[in-house]
Amino acid sequence: MGSDLIDLKGVGPALVSKLKKLKIFSQYDLLFLLPTRYEDKTSLKNISALVPGEKSLIQGRIILTTVVYRGRRMLISQLSDDTGIITLRMFHFSKQQAKQLAENTIVRCFGQTRKTTSGLEMIHPEYQIINPEKPIPLETGLTPIYPTTEGLQQGRLRKIIRAALEQQMDSIPELLPRSIVKELGLLPLKEALQEIHQPSQKNTINDHENLFRKRLIIEELLANQLALKRLKRQTKKESAKSLATALLKELLISALPFELTKSQSRVVEEIEEDLKKNHPMMRLLQGDVGSGKTIVAALAMLIAVGSKQQAALMAPTELLAEQHFDNLVSWFEPLGVSVGLLKSKLPAKNRREMYAGLAEGRIDVIVGTHALFQPDVVYKNLALVVVDEQHRFGVEQRLSLMKKSSDRHSIPHQLIMTATPIPRSLAMTAYGDLDASIIDELPKGRGDIQTIIVPEEKRAQVMEKIVKECKVGRQSYWVCPLIEESEELNFQAAESTYTLLQEKLRQLNIGLVHGKLNSAKKIKAMERFKHGNTNVLVATTVIEVGVDVANASVMVIENAERLGLTQLHQLRGRIGRGKHQSLCVLIYKKPLSSIAKKRLAAIRGSNDGFVIAEKDLQLRGPGELLGTRQKGLIGLRIADIMRDAYLLPEINKLTVNIEENHPHAIEELVHRWVGDQLEYRNV
Ligand code: ADP
Ligand code: MG
Repeated sequence: MGSDLIDLKGVGPALVSKLKKLKIFSQYDLLFLLPTRYEDKTSLKNISALVPGEKSLIQGRIILTTVVYRGRRMLISQLSDDTGIITLRMFHFSKQQAKQLAENTIVRCFGQTRKTTSGLEMIHPEYQIINPEKPIPLETGLTPIYPTTEGLQQGRLRKIIRAALEQQMDSIPELLPRSIVKELGLLPLKEALQEIHQPSQKNTINDHENLFRKRLIIEELLANQLALKRLKRQTKKESAKSLATALLKELLISALPFELTKSQSRVVEEIEEDLKKNHPMMRLLQGDVGSGKTIVAALAMLIAVGSKQQAALMAPTELLAEQHFDNLVSWFEPLGVSVGLLKSKLPAKNRREMYAGLAEGRIDVIVGTHALFQPDVVYKNLALVVVDEQHRFGVEQRLSLMKKSSDRHSIPHQLIMTATPIPRSLAMTAYGDLDASIIDELPKGRGDIQTIIVPEEKRAQVMEKIVKECKVGRQSYWVCPLIEESEELNFQAAESTYTLLQEKLRQLNIGLVHGKLNSAKKIKAMERFKHGNTNVLVATTVIEVGVDVANASVMVIENAERLGLTQLHQLRGRIGRGKHQSLCVLIYKKPLSSIAKKRLAAIRGSNDGFVIAEKDLQLRGPGELLGTRQKGLIGLRIADIMRDAYLLPEINKLTVNIEENHPHAIEELVHRWVGDQLEYRNV
């Protein structure tokens, strides 16, 4: 039996192409798709014993199913077991589903319980129809939840990962030299993978110091370090076009309605120096939320355009791409610089035109998501790539960018921008291949942000506050972040808050944006908020990065105790952009652990991203739960640079050791954890 995906039972060509999106090309890759968390579906709960806010597994008989219209169409079912009744509510459903949930059907549901005035309910639970003749056994172990992609269900993914484990367990190569495994007392790779995918112990698997987990964390950090060092060596050898025409840049600066801050000017100079050279710039621009990174990027791009070259700006989401596009158009069009927006879902004709414009050089500056760097996009002369919000952008992506030059002898300059300030002590580990610039001041004239911490019982008071703010014309975000990587699951929480606010705040217009909406709908919801048509925008963390609405003055964040400090700070950065005094409300669920208390206090105590990052580093460490992992700060799968910082001295030694004594191991380690892009320039 080979290790090709297609050889796995239940895997056909359609699935293979979905897996490609997750960078999974072989059965081995499947084994390294690691769960982000686990769910406990090992026992059924009585409906009478359900606790609002908690996720539980229940089973019962449908006593009523009906489609109703209350502001929007919804499917309502009532489920009863011997102990009580609960309502299941769905906003997105098919006729088929409505039929399936007919009276007397036995259904097993998993979802978050919420309490309403009319009783308990679950919004969009996962459910399974149970045939009483053939009852389905309960799970015997914890259910791993994997990062997934559109159209690929967890259940399906779990099944094939299980199959891959069975097939490949015995042939999965141990890449770490035996002497190192022994010296560090590491568990064998096989055991670690087995336990991570199919935990045998319920209580300790979420602990990041769990030895199984640690084994994988160490290997990943090591691979990442090896990749960075190699990348740095390689880029030093590359050449790039020297860009040095500053006229357009000067014109834009004089046309701006504001003056650049000192930091912004300094950073622009640093970038200018880099661009003059005929080696590629590899610069990281760190600047707190709202510090004004976009204009710096715009000025850099004008230097490229002035030198008759193209520039590209890549954003992490379509939402942000759209926003950048609007900004750039307003800055660039008066200068005669043409800007394009490459959306992922363009009609074929427009796409062809866009591609032709890029290939023929009619478009000077292009904005988009990673779609900018699909293989079929060809540039006439791309000389500068700006990547916004690098925390969704790891080494692998940086590598793939290098392929994008039209000229085989030079590669584009790269500017990578992030609002995630990393403590200096970690910067080398996170971004060892980059030079760093920092914007360390905010533009003048911003209103203050006050941060308060409230238990969820006081939600009603928070709503009153929002009504007040909206009355004087301000707007508010209400963020429902769960910590899953999968937007599929995240949207349940947003939907349920949306419903609640619609019920309670009838005098206000409530908007909703989450990952399950298609991108046109998302953009529309954002536009409505931006133009003041909605007062309150309920959102998942899709708004975490970059969204800029100066009139928004309140930010409510649910489940605040479960989020990383950086993420909280990012979210809070969506307000305080205008001159008004702003308020950030962190809602938590009791009881708060002592570490959670300290974290929330740290956020309340400072508005400075670097101070918060240092604090974050101090507060991380033993006992921390898996869920608070920074979402892929630098594209890592299981490690977290901050949380696992205590391992770094060891990792650095290990990196040198491998480079000196086991160089043959590097290739495969990097391939396994970082991806296969490295081979490209490995000549
Ligand atoms: P971020 O660094 O978070 O990406 P943005 O680039 O979105 O921040 O800038 C936030 C807001 O501040 C934008 O509306 C931008 O036009 C404005 N801005 C940027 N630089 C300045 C400045 N020097 N003075 C005043 N406003 C500025
Ligand atoms: Mg930004």
